[in-house]
Amino acid sequence: MAWRDVPLGRWLRAVGIAAAPLALAFIVLAGLGLLAPGTAALTWFGLTVISATAIHWLLGDLLRTKSQLEKLARGGEIEVQARRTRIGRELTQSLQRLARESGQRTASLVSDHDGLERALDALPGPVLLLNEGHKVVRANRASKNLLGGELEGRDLAAVLRNPDVVAALEAAARSGSGQDVAFTLQAPVRRHFSARIEPLSQHAADGTAIVLALVDMTAVRLADQMRADFVANASHEIRTPLATLSGYIETLSGPARDDAEARRRFLAIMARHAERMTRLVEDLLSLSRIEMNEHTAPTERVELAALLATVVDNLEWRARERPATIERDIEAGLPPLMGDAGDLTQLFQNLVDNAIKYGREGGRVRIRAWRETSGPDESAGEASKDADIMVSIADEGDGIARQHLPRLTERFYRIDTARSRELGGTGLGLAIVKHIASRHRAALTIDSEVGKGSIFTLRFAHIPTESSDGPAGL
Ligand code: ADP
Repeated sequence: MAWRDVPLGRWLRAVGIAAAPLALAFIVLAGLGLLAPGTAALTWFGLTVISATAIHWLLGDLLRTKSQLEKLARGGEIEVQARRTRIGRELTQSLQRLARESGQRTASLVSDHDGLERALDALPGPVLLLNEGHKVVRANRASKNLLGGELEGRDLAAVLRNPDVVAALEAAARSGSGQDVAFTLQAPVRRHFSARIEPLSQHAADGTAIVLALVDMTAVRLADQMRADFVANASHEIRTPLATLSGYIETLSGPARDDAEARRRFLAIMARHAERMTRLVEDLLSLSRIEMNEHTAPTERVELAALLATVVDNLEWRARERPATIERDIEAGLPPLMGDAGDLTQLFQNLVDNAIKYGREGGRVRIRAWRETSGPDESAGEASKDADIMVSIADEGDGIARQHLPRLTERFYRIDTARSRELGGTGLGLAIVKHIASRHRAALTIDSEVGKGSIFTLRFAHIPTESSDGPAGL
C-alpha cells in the first residue's frame, strides 16, 4: 500500500493525537528550564516524525486487513500482501487461517446441502418445501414429475388447486401440529393422494416453514374398489342360482308336489344351477389359490406336447357336444417348460373350452405350439435353442370387438353375460388364465377379428436350466 492509500485526514488526526500530549510535555520541560526551548522543539519534532511514520505503517496494515476482511465476507479470495508492522503480519496470519477455515466450512455446507438435495430427489414420493406464505421453496424430482417443472416460487394453491390442502396448511400453521388431508388430482388422469403437512418448529435458512409430503393412494383405492366389486359380483353370481333353487324347492314342495313331469323338468334345471354354483365356487377357489402362489416361480419341468394332449382328451366330449373339431400343430422337439403342470392344464383348458364355447358351431379350434426367437436375431431363420415357447389357441367364432380386449381378463367381465351363463361360463376363466400366465412369466396377447375368430397367444420366456439343452421329453 503506497503513501497515498492511507487517507491523509485520518493519518493527520492520528498523528495529532500522538503529537499533542508530546508537545505539551516538552513545553512543560522547557518552561521549567529543564530543556532548552530549541532542543525541546527539535526533540518533539523528531519524535513526531518517527510516530507519524509508525502510525502510517500501522494504519496502512489495518486498512489493508479491513479491505481483505470485507473481500472475504463477500466470498472473494484474499491475497497475500507484505505487512510493515508485526501486528499487521499477525493479523495477516489470522486472516489466512480464517479464510481457510471458512472455505472448509462452506465446502462442507455445500456438500451437506447437495447431499440433502440429492436425498430429497431420491425420495419416491413428491415432497414440497413451503415458506410461511405457502410458496414453494423447493420441490423434489417426484413432485416435478407429478406437477410440472417450474414449481419454485409458485403459490401452493395455484400448484395443487385444492381448497382442502390450503385449509389444512392454515390449520397446521395455527395449531403448529402436523395435518393429514386426502385430495384428488383430476388431470392428466384422476389420481388420489394423501398429503402429510408438517410445520417446522424453526424456519430453515432458505425460508422453509412447512414440509408437504404426498402419497399416491390411487392403487390402494383401486384395490379397495376391486375387492368391494369382487365381493359384490361373487355374491350376486351365487345369489342368482340360489334364489332359483329355493324357488324350485318351494314349487316342488307345494303346487307341483304331485306333478311327476314338472318334477323331472324342475330337477334337471336345479341340477344345472347347482352345477353352475359348483363351477363358480371351484373357480373362485382356484383363483385365490393361484393368486397366493403367483409370486413363487414354478419349478416343475413340463412336457408341453403331452400336457396339451391331456387337455384335448379332457375336452373332447365338449367339442363333440358343440360340435367343433380340435386340431393340434405342435412343433417337434419342444424343450420342457419350467412350470406347474396342474396350473398349465387349467390355463389351456380354459382357453380351449372358451374356443369351443364361443367358436362357430361345426368350426375348428386350432392349438399351435412352436419356438420363436425374440429380439434382434429373430430373422436368423432356424429357431435357436434359447428361443421362447409360443402356444396359441385359435377359433372361428364371432370374434371380440376391440373395445372389450383390455378388460377381458378382469374377473366377471363378460361381453354377453346371458350368453356366457347359458354356456355355463363363470366369468372367471380368463382371469385365472391371466394369473397363471403371470406366475409363469408368460405374456398373453389376444388378437381378434369380428366375424372371423380370435387367437389367444402365450409367450413363455426362455428360462435357461442346466439341462434345457438336453433332449426334449424329460
Ligand atoms: P366365461 O366363463 O364367461 O367364459 P371367461 O373369463 O372365460 O368367462 O371369458 C370372459 C368373456 O370373454 C366371455 O364371457 C366372453 O364374452 C369373452 N370370450 C372369452 N373367450 C372368447 C373367445 N374365444 N371368443 C369370443 N369371446 C370370448
